[in-house]
Amino acid sequence: MKNYSEKLKDQIIFFTREEIEWINKYGDWCDHLAQRKVLPKTEAQRRFVCVINHQLEPKFSHEFIWRKVEKALSNISNIESYISEIKNNEKIIDSNNQVIKSLKKQLSEFEDIEKEKKRLELVRQMNNQSGLVQEKSIFCILCGGDGGATGNCPRCGGNGMEPDNP
Ligand SMILES: [Zn+2]
Repeated sequence: MKNYSEKLKDQIIFFTREEIEWINKYGDWCDHLAQRKVLPKTEAQRRFVCVINHQLEPKFSHEFIWRKVEKALSNISNIESYISEIKNNEKIIDSNNQVIKSLKKQLSEFEDIEKEKKRLELVRQMNNQSGLVQEKSIFCILCGGDGGATGNCPRCGGNGMEPDNP
């Protein structure tokens, strides 16, 4: 069977040798009193149960030791929930980093596509200049196909298409 003081983990440094001995001897019994698995038999034990249940302030040395045990267990619980919160945050950061990595990859692919579009446009212009390709634009050369900013391009009448007889 484990010593009760092992539950105190690194908080044990706050206890004296005598306190640890008392805790190892009575810790389980105190737990059982607190959980009503054991009923107090004497007046002193009834008083101790009231201290355990925070209905009375501690007065005797063993009652103060039990308060220290409660404080130590509560510290351990707080530290453990803090650590688990940090671990959760690390998971969220990891997952966000994955999203950022994926977005950067998409952006890089998009930039590659834009570069390729510019390269093809350049090739097309060079072919046009050299007369290899006679390509008639379907868009109005004046507004570039947007009908002018307010859709009132005088050349295409706002539809953005190249007029048949300009
Ligand atoms: Zn136009």
